[in-house]
Amino acid sequence: MNRSLALCLLLFFLGMALPSSAQDPGETRIAKWKDDRTGAFLLMFDDSWPSHVQVAVPELVKRGLIATFYVCPGKGEHLKFSADWDNKVWQQGMVYGNHTMTHKGVKDYTNAITEIGDCARYIRKVTGAKETKLVSYGQPGVGPKDWNITPEQLKELLKQNNMIDRPPFANHGAVYHWKTKEEMLALADKAITNKGMEYLVIHGVERLKPDWGYQDFWALKQDVFFPLLDALKERQDKHQLWITDHISAHQYETERNTAEVKVLERSASKFHVELKTKADPVYYDHPLTLITRVPEDTIRYDAIPGNIPIVVEKTQ
Ligand SMILES: [Zn+2]
Repeated sequence: MNRSLALCLLLFFLGMALPSSAQDPGETRIAKWKDDRTGAFLLMFDDSWPSHVQVAVPELVKRGLIATFYVCPGKGEHLKFSADWDNKVWQQGMVYGNHTMTHKGVKDYTNAITEIGDCARYIRKVTGAKETKLVSYGQPGVGPKDWNITPEQLKELLKQNNMIDRPPFANHGAVYHWKTKEEMLALADKAITNKGMEYLVIHGVERLKPDWGYQDFWALKQDVFFPLLDALKERQDKHQLWITDHISAHQYETERNTAEVKVLERSASKFHVELKTKADPVYYDHPLTLITRVPEDTIRYDAIPGNIPIVVEKTQ
């Protein structure tokens, strides 16, 4: 892995001016979430429904938002739009999660290797991701008779395929648990209030054009979905929410939880900052956001934890 990234950031960044009495130049803190946003919010779309490609993705792109799509690459609905899933949707910034190949459950451990393992391989292959790139896993909702491996076997498969289980569907389902924009937005606002992470799991999205004569499973009405996206974008623009994919939030949180930042050398014009984390850099290479006090100002910047010193230097 290329870890030769060194940062040298300049001091004339715009930032909050502090009274000089309150200053401790060089003092550096790690932001709770990327860009020092207050909370994190994840949009998740399950099952590779056509309306994801037809409606959800274009509306997300229009607003500069991203989401995690839990795909089932062996399902007919996915195959019908495979050109989009293989070559377009991820290029537009969307991230894929593993929802098993066919969503039909698993007969036994051998079948699970195919259902879960092949889906992980599909995702890495089409997106050109390396083996160590973590992939989010979303358990498909099937009856107990159709799920014939133990929780330990699932855990083993997740580990073998470098996958991270997503948080549970319970109380987070659009249409199923929550019907109105206000109810769904309350989840996002909870993330802001708690400075935590929240999420919403969506299945179909209402399709007006093209009129296929039917809607996808649990289709979320456009007159709820579009205003919801607008309200989320507003919170993103106001710096309140980091709207991201599950793995990025997981990496950030994991790295931040054991991260330590030290200022090794400081003068009025130069600081050496060292950022380390106990998280394994092979899987956890997401940049963390740091905020360093400089005379009359603060600067905010991203750095990948490691052994490379970060140099913050005044140039004028
Ligand atoms: Zn599903």
